[in-house]
This record gives sequence, structure tokens and C-alpha cells, in this order.
Amino acid sequence: MEMMLEEEREELAREARYLAAQGLVAGREGNLSVRRGDLVAIKGTGVRMLDASPGDFSVIDMLGKHLEGPRPSSEYRMHLMIYGARPDIGAVVHVHPAFTISLRALGIAPEPSTEEAKLYYGRVCAVPPIDPGTEELASAVARAASSGCNAVLLEGHGLVFSAAELKDAVDGAVAEERSSQVQFMGAISDLLQKIYFTCARS
Ligand SMILES: [Zn+2]
Repeated sequence: MEMMLEEEREELAREARYLAAQGLVAGREGNLSVRRGDLVAIKGTGVRMLDASPGDFSVIDMLGKHLEGPRPSSEYRMHLMIYGARPDIGAVVHVHPAFTISLRALGIAPEPSTEEAKLYYGRVCAVPPIDPGTEELASAVARAASSGCNAVLLEGHGLVFSAAELKDAVDGAVAEERSSQVQFMGAISDLLQKIYFTCARS
């Protein structure tokens, strides 16, 4: 039987396994999608990225109508609203990167701090905590994306990375987490040095 967006679903499955291998998601976390015209291939709800296969991805239209495959991810509105706001975007990746989230929790704004990161984004926009899967979260992320932001941090939750091509959205998300890891380690070592000198002086 012929499968809709077969090539796209194969690539999505491959990239989903890569994101899990990179530690950007655990268990059933995260979702990713690709847009082709009026059709969107998106991860099914409850699918583990680590062992994702093409059949784990659903096809929906731009209105959210389910056309093929499993029930789409509960974040499908977020993907559709980004595509609606940004015709230049062809792929959206949502992950739960630990260093990015922790850095922000320390009160530090993630920014591209490595050469690799600078290739993929100029800034990270932040969206305050909003319940996952809601229309409210979808519109907040789409608003940030429509201001030209391809890297959107969901405070206390995760990261949404958008790009024209799936590989760039995936590599951008990985580069963002590595950049946040570098910033996080730098912040911790500054803090340890301060503590050390404070103790040495007293
Ligand atoms: Zn999430």
C-alpha cells in the first residue's frame, strides 16, 4: 500500500532516532514535523523517538484534519501555527534539552555561544511557562516565530527549533543545546571560583 509523504516520514524517523541518541529527548518526549505544501507529517502521540519508524508518523492537513497514520502529537497545533505564521519554514522540532532549560532556570538567557550555534540562529526567544498541548502555548510560540525567531525556549519545558529543512532544524536544536551546555558549565565554574575566593579570603 502506498504511504503519503513516505520519504518525509522516513527522514523524520531517522532524525527522531538521532535526537534521542543526542539526549535531547527521553522516553516519549518531544515531537517533530515536516511540511510539504498543504500537508504536514508529524510524530504520532506517545511515540518513543529512540525507536521511531516511518509508520509512527501521521499525516495531517494545515487545518489539523487527520489523514493517515497514528493520532498526531498533542502539540500539532503548535506546528501548524508556526507553519501558518512563517511560509519559509518547512520543518519544526520540539525537544526537552536539559542544559537549555537549566540555564534559563539559573536566570541566564541562552545565546549562541559556539561557532556551530552561530551558523543556525542569532538569538533565542523565550516563552513563559504555559501548559503543553494548549492553543495558548501554540499561539505564544507562533508569535515568537513570526518575529523571525527560529529558536524558541519554552521556560521550564523545552525548545522549539524551526528551519526551512528538517536537517537544519535538528542540527540547530542540537547546536543550541551544546551551546547552552557550554554556557552552563561556564556559569557554574564562575560560581565555584567566586565561592573559592570568598572562602579563601575569610
Ligand atoms: Zn514538550
